Amino acid sequence: MIYTNLGILCWGIPLSKRISIYELTLEDLAERLQNQGAPSFRARQLWNNVYKRLLNNPEEMTDIPRDLQLRIQEMFTFTSLETQATVRSNDGNTEKILFSLSDGRSIEAVLMRHQKRRTVCVSTQVGCAMGCVFCATGQMGLERNLSPGEIVEQVIHFARYLSIEDKRVTNLVIMGMGEPFHNYQATMQAIETLNDPTGFKFGSRRITVSTIGIVPMIKRFTQENQQVNLAVSLHAATNELRSELVPINQRYPLNELIPSCKEYVQKTGRRITFEWALVHEVNDGPDQAQALVDLIQGLNCHVNLIPLNPTLGFAGRATSQERVKGFKDFLTDHKIPCTIRVRQGVDINAGCGQLATEKK
Ligand code: SAH
Ligand code: SF4
Repeated sequence: MIYTNLGILCWGIPLSKRISIYELTLEDLAERLQNQGAPSFRARQLWNNVYKRLLNNPEEMTDIPRDLQLRIQEMFTFTSLETQATVRSNDGNTEKILFSLSDGRSIEAVLMRHQKRRTVCVSTQVGCAMGCVFCATGQMGLERNLSPGEIVEQVIHFARYLSIEDKRVTNLVIMGMGEPFHNYQATMQAIETLNDPTGFKFGSRRITVSTIGIVPMIKRFTQENQQVNLAVSLHAATNELRSELVPINQRYPLNELIPSCKEYVQKTGRRITFEWALVHEVNDGPDQAQALVDLIQGLNCHVNLIPLNPTLGFAGRATSQERVKGFKDFLTDHKIPCTIRVRQGVDINAGCGQLATEKK
């Protein structure tokens, strides 16, 4: 390896310009390797090593010649996320990782084990601009979007971690920090990379993306006929209450949001999930339950009820078990399929809406 006094490598690639491998599509990778004079099949070999064998050290990529291994090491980084801290819930079923990004900012991602499932929950932004009052991420404000590679790498990190026990990630929920439809392009590129049948091969049906209800993006998602599952965080069934809890409702009110959800179901033939964080005596009474029935009855949907998880910036508390059951029974009586979300990781602040990182 020859360094100039400017710290530039002999192939002319400054170290600082190394790109994370997870940012690239297979085509991008092929182009970059071809520009270095490597035959085109090497890109697929590298792709296999990264997404099938889950390797992050080119020296272990034994099917790639040594000189190309070195060049790959100088062109790409394989770990742009650094594990700052890991916390495990008391029952051992939930693990939360605090990752630091290359610019020093931080995000969180979660692994949840439940029966035979191992679900990974990833972030799409540092913070969130949507400001939902009960959400710790919303309470932070938005710092920046994540890149496609930063989203992909969260999943690959857990895949590699589970592979030690000979296990795999079974489900992926894009429900961590941030609003995925406020970072649409990066989220979709990340999904495409993870989907790739010649690589990580993570089926769309096992992926769920959750949005607060950015209507133009729901329309785009519908038009593109994206195959991943869609969840919409509703939380209230009247504009008055929803705007209080979820400020973006003032921009995209229920009378625009619900038709876009109906259009999604109609055009794609797929079921939609609605999420509802139950806040004691705020949105857990019969009036809201009735308003919800009026909004979505007859739609191919499923309602996920989540008793509110505590966050520092919101005084509301979780609905009692009795009222959760009352709300659920009301929906069930009106033939709306509904489940109460299993609460996991609340003791380590890894439950829904609890992810947040301190500003540097
Ligand atoms: N921004 C997206 C995805 C991330 S939030 C969205 O809002 O859908 C993931 C889920 O956690 C959403 O359904 C969100 O409404 C819910 N949530 C946020 N804060 C919560 C809290 N304190 N308790 C329970 N669920 C919460
Ligand atoms: Fe953002 Fe979702 Fe939290 Fe709302 S609930 S602030 S959209 S992360």
